[in-house]
Amino acid sequence: MNLHHIAIAVRNLDEALAFYQDALGLELAERRAVPEEGVEIAFLPAGEAELELLQPLSAEGGVAGFLEKRGEGLHHICLKVPDIDAAMEQLKAGGARLLSDAPKTDAHGTRYVFVHPRSAHGVLLELYEVRE
Ligand code: ZN
Repeated sequence: MNLHHIAIAVRNLDEALAFYQDALGLELAERRAVPEEGVEIAFLPAGEAELELLQPLSAEGGVAGFLEKRGEGLHHICLKVPDIDAAMEQLKAGGARLLSDAPKTDAHGTRYVFVHPRSAHGVLLELYEVRE
């Protein structure tokens, strides 16, 4: 199991990119809106993992609520798993709370699921299926 990305919730993606891309020197690999999650995201590779910047598309939704309550900052950590169905079964068997009953699929066809922070000791945890 490897780290896939670390996600940071930001109020303004352009301003955040001015820091992470321009000032810090990371390269922007991808930027796109994810309407079904209510966010615009940007990925910046950092070594073998990536930083994901998340900006809410509206005042509704999880990331907007997160920013209102806690301000900008670390939003979630994502680990790669080889088999998401097996990982979900194992977590459910151990009593962990998942944010959806079935994996979701992103724009690249990759399946993912979130684990509730209460089950992951205070961190929102994302599992991303990468068959290697
Ligand atoms: Zn993520």
